[in-house]
Order: sequence, then C-alpha cells, then structure tokens
Amino acid sequence: MSRYPHLFQPLDLGFTQLKNRVVMGSMHTGLEDRPWHFSELAAYFEERAKGGVGLIVTGGFAPNRAGDLLPFGSKLISSWQVPFHRKVTAAVHRHNGKILMQILHAGRYGYTPFSVAPSAIQSPITPFKPRELSASQIRTTIKHFGRAASLAQQAGYDGVEVMGSEGYFITQMLNQRTNQRTDEWGGSYHNRMRFALEVIREIRAQAGDHFIVMFRLSMLDLVDGGSTAEEIIELALELEKAGVNLLNTGIGWHEARVPTIVTSVPRGAFVEATAQVKQAVSIPVVASNRINMPATAEAIVAQGQADMVAMARPFLADPEWVIKAEQGREDEINTCIACNQACLDHTFANKRASCLVNPRACHETELVWQLATTVKRVAVVGAGPAGLACAVVAAQRGHQVTLFEGRDFIGGQFNLASRIPGKEEFQETIRYYQTMITKLGIDLRLSTRVSADGLRQSGFDEVVVATGVEPRLPQVDGIDHASVMTYQQLLSNAVTVGARVAIMGAGGIGFDVAEYLTQEGESTTLNAEHWRSEWGVDVRSQVRGGLVTPDVEVSPRQVYLLQRKSSALGKGLNKTTGWVHRATMKMKQVEMIAGVQYDRIDDQGLHIRIVKGEETEECVLEVDHVVVCTGQESVNQLYHDLQALLVDGSCGVHLVGGAEFAGELDAKRAIRTASILAASL
Ligand code: NAP
Ligand code: SF4
Repeated sequence: MSRYPHLFQPLDLGFTQLKNRVVMGSMHTGLEDRPWHFSELAAYFEERAKGGVGLIVTGGFAPNRAGDLLPFGSKLISSWQVPFHRKVTAAVHRHNGKILMQILHAGRYGYTPFSVAPSAIQSPITPFKPRELSASQIRTTIKHFGRAASLAQQAGYDGVEVMGSEGYFITQMLNQRTNQRTDEWGGSYHNRMRFALEVIREIRAQAGDHFIVMFRLSMLDLVDGGSTAEEIIELALELEKAGVNLLNTGIGWHEARVPTIVTSVPRGAFVEATAQVKQAVSIPVVASNRINMPATAEAIVAQGQADMVAMARPFLADPEWVIKAEQGREDEINTCIACNQACLDHTFANKRASCLVNPRACHETELVWQLATTVKRVAVVGAGPAGLACAVVAAQRGHQVTLFEGRDFIGGQFNLASRIPGKEEFQETIRYYQTMITKLGIDLRLSTRVSADGLRQSGFDEVVVATGVEPRLPQVDGIDHASVMTYQQLLSNAVTVGARVAIMGAGGIGFDVAEYLTQEGESTTLNAEHWRSEWGVDVRSQVRGGLVTPDVEVSPRQVYLLQRKSSALGKGLNKTTGWVHRATMKMKQVEMIAGVQYDRIDDQGLHIRIVKGEETEECVLEVDHVVVCTGQESVNQLYHDLQALLVDGSCGVHLVGGAEFAGELDAKRAIRTASILAASL
C-alpha cells in the first residue's frame, strides 16, 4: 500500500486517463527557443516521463510573433515546426506519459520593442511600452491560439495549457490595471473575460473534444487592482462551460512585490486560493507553488484542496521524484530547495536552465555518469556540498568511496545556511546525501582529520580534496576585540548576541545573517499564516488582488548592514531572490550603509567613516557585537601537502569546491564541478 494513496490514484478525464495526480508544471528551460535543441529538450522530458510523472507541461510557446517573451523566443506558428515537437512527444509517449504544450502570449511582459497589450501601459518590469492591439487584431490573436493548439495536436501533444496567469497577456486582458479599453474587450468584467473564453472556444473548435485543455488561472493576483475571489470564481465557472478540462493554479503576477516561489515562502502557502476555486467548479483543479515533497502533495489531494498537484522545479532537481515517492523511497528524493540559482536566475540571464542540486538537469545528453570500467579506491576529504556530490557520483559509478569529515556531521556550508530563517529547505539536501551515503555504502568517517601521509599510506587510487573555506578576517584595528565574531561562530550557536549588532560585509552571507538577527522564535517559513500576515497576503482574495496591510513583527535587534562599495546594498544578489532579501531588510528596518570605511573596533563599538561623494562622515556605531561576513578563504593545505608527497603520481590528487576557489564560493559551481570530476575518475 502506497504511503501516498491519493497522489497515486488515476484521474479520469472522460476521453483519457492520467495515471496519477502529479503534474510537471511549465518551466522555460531555454531549450525551447531553437529547433536544434529539441533533441536535448526531448531527452530532458523523457527522463521525467520515465520517472513516472502523470502529466507534463512544456515551457511556454507563443501563438504568434507579437506574443514573444523574448526576441526570437519559442513559438508554434507554422507546420514546419511540427516535426521538431514530435521528438518531444514521442519521447514522452515511449514511457506512457502525457504531455501538454503551453501556449503563452507574453503581452506587455514581452522583452521586445514589438510587444503588444490590451492597452499601451508599460509594465514595471520591462523596458518597453507595448502597442495597443486593435479589436480586429485581438480577434486574429484568438485565431492564433487556436492555430497553436491545432499544430500542437499535429505534433502529438495530448493537449495544451493556456497560460492565463502570472500577469501575461490573458491576465492583462482580465484586469482593469492593464486593460482600459472602451470597446467590447474592456470595461465590464464580462467584457474583460471575453478574450479568455473565446480562446478556449477557438481551441476546442480547432482541436476537437478529445484534446486536453488546461487553463492556468490566476487564483491570487497579488497586485493592486487585481481580481477579487468572486471574479476569479466567475471566470473559473465560465472556463468550465467553455470546455476547459483542468484548471491549474497561478499565483501572483511577475510584477508582484510578494514572493511566491522562493525558498522562504512556506510550503503550500497558497493552497487555500486553489481550494476555494475547487469548491466552486466540477472540473479537476491543480494546486501549485512551493510544493516539493510527497507528504505536502498527498495532504493537499487527501484533504480535497485540489485534485492534482503541480511541481516544476522539483522535477529539475529529481526526474525520479514520482517513482521514488510511489516506492516509498522519498528519503532518496533530491529535493528542490527553491533557491532559483540555476533555474530561474539562468532563464532571466538568457542562459540554459539547470539545477543547483542536479547539474544534469537540461544537460541530460552531455552529463552522463557511466559505470566505471575499473573500480577505484577513492578518498574524498570534506563533506560539504562539493565533497558530498563527488562522493555520491563516484559511488554511483561503482567506485569504493571513503568520505572523511573533520566535524561530527555532514553538510558544510549548507548546514550553516539551513539555520537562517527561511532557508530550512537546505536540510533536505543534507538528508538526501545522508541517505545516498548509506544506500551506496560510502564509508563515512566523521570527526576524522586526515593527513597527507595517512592518505598516502592508505593506498587510495584517487584523493579528492574538498576541505572548503574559512571566513576571511579583514585587516581592521580591534578585529580581535571580544565583541567580534565570524558568521560561522554566530550560526553555530557558539555565542549569544546583544541587542545592537553591526554586520561587516553585505554579500549573500551578510544578508542571510541580517535575516537571522532580525527574526526570533519560530521561522515564519514554517508558519504559513504568520508568513502571509507579514507579507500582507489575503490568500482568499476577499480584497482586490489579495493584498492587505502587512503586519510585520518588530526585529528584536537594531541591525546595521555595511559594505565598502558605494553601490546600493544587495545589488550583487541573485536576480529572482535579491529583491526579496532587500524587501525583508526594509521590513525589519535594518540600517543599510554603503561607502563605509572601517577604522577600528573597541569597547565603544565600531568606528567607521561613511564616504558620500566628496564628503566623509565619521561615526561610531555603538553596538554590542560585530559579525564579520567579509568573504572566505580556501582551506587547501592538505592538497599542497599531497602534491608534495605524491610526486610519483601513484595517486590522482584533485581539488574541488570552495577549497579550489573561495572567491566564488558557490554551491552551484561546487556541486557541478565535483560531479563532473567524479564522472571522470
Ligand atoms: P560575497 O558575496 O563576496 O560578499 C562579501 C562581502 O564582504 C562583500 O559585501 C564585500 O563588499 C565585503 N568584503 C570583501 N572583502 C572585504 C574586506 N577585506 N574587508 C571588508 N569587507 C570586505 O561573499 P559572501 O557573502 O561570503 O557569499 C559567498 C557566496 O555565497 C556568494 O557569492 C553566493 O554565491 C553565496 N551565497 C548567496 C546567498 C544569496 O544570494 N542569498 C546567500 C548566501 C551565500 P565590500 O568590499 O564592498 O565591503
Ligand atoms: Fe530548485 Fe534551486 Fe534546482 Fe532551481 S536550482 S530547481 S530552485 S534546487
């Protein structure tokens, strides 16, 4: 009997059946944009279909050029493109999977000077003012949605998903914020809904009844002037009448200033928005956003909040998510930690998506871990992300791996990261590696510091040094004062902190430390109601757009976040998550100061000079503690000792992760390079 009986029940859509309740949600990978990448796209989907997903949705394809998300972006507008898509559908069907093609018209979110919209109102997140479509161009656009569906059908797709959320064209039509037309497509809600309904009728007319049509409905807009619950439900009912088979959930427009998918958003934070739509309609409804583990997914279906559960990034992290859950091997799931670092941040930088915890994602044909032809004895020193990834991939290839770790636990920097409120998910990666260490029979030696000589005497064939980093101490008078601590000492709970704290260094870790110091008690990420009230979310959209006044818990400390650069703090943080960190700092009234020169630290506090253009202001921050977050230095003496000792080349010696490049301490690079190294041993 499955531990997740509701998740693994088939779903009957009348003319077709889905084998379980798991949808792989739409995710743009960058492989959709060029026909010559479709073999790689097919390989990517094939692994997920083989892994048991009930229903897959592709990244978005525009129905016409005006709907482009990017210049020359993915679109399906002509029959010459059909054979490329057939590679994808055939790959999925080989494993008895089902796949929908998403039709996405970007509207004013199109990152091109040729973007169009219901009204010529520029979005706050794009540099281009869109052109207003005429009424007849709107009618042609509807035909183009039908044409895209018909071409998708010819390409072998089991249906289409119509993107009607996230602030794209259909949402722009629905909303007065973006639709100020006075013709039959604007004005009343009835008129503004017309486009969405006509699109569905056109798709049905062109593709017939035996074709799945899923609509991604914005169930919570999170923008001023967004829809109310009554409007959302009215549209859902009309979509059902127009012939939609499944309603998927969209949460928040891209321009919303409330986070919806980053790691600090609680799991299942928006499910109630889906549940209230489900109560109103008779067709199956799909929940989405921050669902990444089977227990959360099962609870949603079991409690009747939704009929299916959609996950996108979790399938980048682990293509075998479904089969592992079905077989009760959920502790082997490589969980998506919602960091966005290798997926959405890549997409926004116009780079191919991948996954921080699974570098094979979207590189299935290039990164292949083959069984080793000669089994070797491999020593990996250091059980941080780089050492763990290296040890696991080497063991998966059949090598005999011994993993040495000086501490009495694994995880390295991930362990520290997981102590930050909102980064609890990082523990899932440690759990995954712990499980794989046991399953693969890796010989883990905790609390063991090895020397070069000891390693030489043990006769390993390969030694991988992944000894990580240590905090860099800046050259400032009084850096050895009792009030100074490193972020490592702070996060290891080795010290207690006073009510006034200065943080030196405002990189990723400085911001994390500021979050740690400004929250006390239970992390809001573990309490969805508390989190929603801090961000001002009315999940049931009783007020327009679902936005209410945030009720922010006051920080228990006065925190100063400092950097030497004169640029705005947090500018170097990742694109899709940096704004959330900056907003949190503002909420918690952290004083962020740029252009700082550190003079000294003494009993009075931290003496600084603030350079503003030509002027310099001297001041003392009278703080109880100073936390140093000024970067790291590599720990790699062992590597140099080994090189000196093993000059005869009797053993391969390798350096990976932060031990190799502290300057770019970065788990994405560490896991990727360590995995590639392990694949070459
Ligand atoms: P970082 O991003 O390089 O930041 C180091 C900070 O220290 C900077 O603010 C730098 O700015 C300052 N600094 C550097 N040398 C200094 C010196 N000698 N004296 C005084 N200040 C100095 O490094 P990090 O914060 O340690 O993060 C490391 C990596 O971890 C990041 O690159 C990122 O990949 C990852 N990470 C990311 C996040 C996130 O995005 N949320 C969170 C945690 C970790 P100034 O020189 O201007 O003062
Ligand atoms: Fe999830 Fe991060 Fe991987 Fe993206 S990069 S799929 S957010 S773990």
